[in-house]
Amino acid sequence: MEYSKYQKNDIVTVTIEDIGNDGEGIGKIDGYTLFVKDAIIGDMAEVRITKCKKNYGYARMEKVLIPSSFRVEPKCKLHRQCGGCQIQAMDYKRQLVYKQDKVRNNLLRIGGFTEEQIDAATEPIIGMDEPWHYRNKAQYPVGYDKNGNLITGFYAGRTHDIIANTDCALGAPENKDILEAVLEYMKENHVPAYREKEGTGLVRHVLIRTGFRSGEIMVCLVINGKKLPGEERLVEKLLEVKFPENGESVSAGQKTIRDGAVHKKLVSVSVSVNTEKTNVIMGKEIRVLWGKDRILDALGGINFEISPLSFYQVNPLQTEKLYGLALDYAGLTGKETVWDLYCGIGTISLFMARKAKQVYGVEIIPEAIADAKENARNNGIDNVQFIVGKAEEVLPQFYAGRNMSKALVENASYESGKDEERTVDEQMRHPDVIVVDPPRKGCDEKCLETMLAMQPERIVYVSCDSATLARDLKVLCGGGYELKRVRAVDQFGHSVHVETVVMLSHKKTTA
Ligand code: SAH
Repeated sequence: MEYSKYQKNDIVTVTIEDIGNDGEGIGKIDGYTLFVKDAIIGDMAEVRITKCKKNYGYARMEKVLIPSSFRVEPKCKLHRQCGGCQIQAMDYKRQLVYKQDKVRNNLLRIGGFTEEQIDAATEPIIGMDEPWHYRNKAQYPVGYDKNGNLITGFYAGRTHDIIANTDCALGAPENKDILEAVLEYMKENHVPAYREKEGTGLVRHVLIRTGFRSGEIMVCLVINGKKLPGEERLVEKLLEVKFPENGESVSAGQKTIRDGAVHKKLVSVSVSVNTEKTNVIMGKEIRVLWGKDRILDALGGINFEISPLSFYQVNPLQTEKLYGLALDYAGLTGKETVWDLYCGIGTISLFMARKAKQVYGVEIIPEAIADAKENARNNGIDNVQFIVGKAEEVLPQFYAGRNMSKALVENASYESGKDEERTVDEQMRHPDVIVVDPPRKGCDEKCLETMLAMQPERIVYVSCDSATLARDLKVLCGGGYELKRVRAVDQFGHSVHVETVVMLSHKKTTA
């Protein structure tokens, strides 16, 4: 057996020539590949080897000898320790190129498409105008540092050690003052933080959500108990926090939305009871201490009510662009029947419903479907119907014609079951467009199979993992579809994640 010529703790000099899947730098020394966390493509660096395999190893950055032209001064001093940002030291424009390349490579290698096919379909990635302070939601763990000081911040990458940081460059700027008010309240009232190992103490997490359009702010403390001591004093402290008015120190990312006209205001303070020894952050029970139990926000002109437990996209500005693109790719004229699989709280369904004849949304989580129905009602959108269940079970059932009557009873306007040409059953079995927005693992085989059998004219695939996207596209394009349009959208600047929207059309339509 051949052993690597390098050993753990060796210090070597390497030039970084590529970027790996997790944002790490990749370089070679005499044909031996090294994966170096925090190294930027173009860097020449001194690195310490941390793990050796026969043909490749891992290393840690010790010193940048010649910095890459893509290296920038990161905004956050803690970016290397924190698990949130992987590529903050890379110029944002280069980050976008990296993300677009990642999608392209996956379509080539996993999807089996040719360069010509990909290039003909691909449109340039949609980046953020302002890649800072774009998140509308943050969950900060509360705990103690090594010296026993009360802190809040972020988990270090892959651990549950808390790094004290109330000033995250991706979160809403007012979070800092809110967190400091919470810590002050805890100190003054001797409220202990939760100790994860022992399962003792009280305050586990602070959840903050901001409606970027409405300016409404929600603070929810997750506690290992039923009650906080002096709850009214927490509320008093939070009400003392001064929020920026009319654009004053509002982050640029949020300003873009309403030209700085967002009045930030606290509207909801609550606790969530979570006494389980678990990694799940939120408890099921929410108790309002002050104000409303939810905040209002809007996406693409549709209003959403968001409770502490609701799912809601974390980058509203880019979500509008992402779903706007999906809507564009769907090519709706008002006559179409659309299935929206993996519909969550129905955001895409509601976007589509305004341009389609009828939309059917399918989602596995009943609470999300309850939110989706309420969102449809609140916005006066009645040509959409939501179904709880697994996409890979619901779709085949409808295709086989087994669930039709149930759907018709639920939706009174469809009782007659007829339109000019096709019955509702036929329209459901053979929709014009199917949209999917699955989690990272992609679509189930049975789901893809049924989509192929239904033969919609167009399939719009919204994906948060371009590897599983490429895998699924291979199946769909092997079954009669053609790759027409591909476009990446950056939802999470400074992380390695990228969203992609793809449009396929059936060969019979394009022939
Ligand atoms: N478009 C949605 C978000 C999609 S995220 C929105 O804007 O709200 C992916 C969704 O797929 C999640 O809500 C998840 O609960 C759901 N999901 C996961 N597996 C599923 C399955 N097998 N069938 C249906 N939905 C599923």
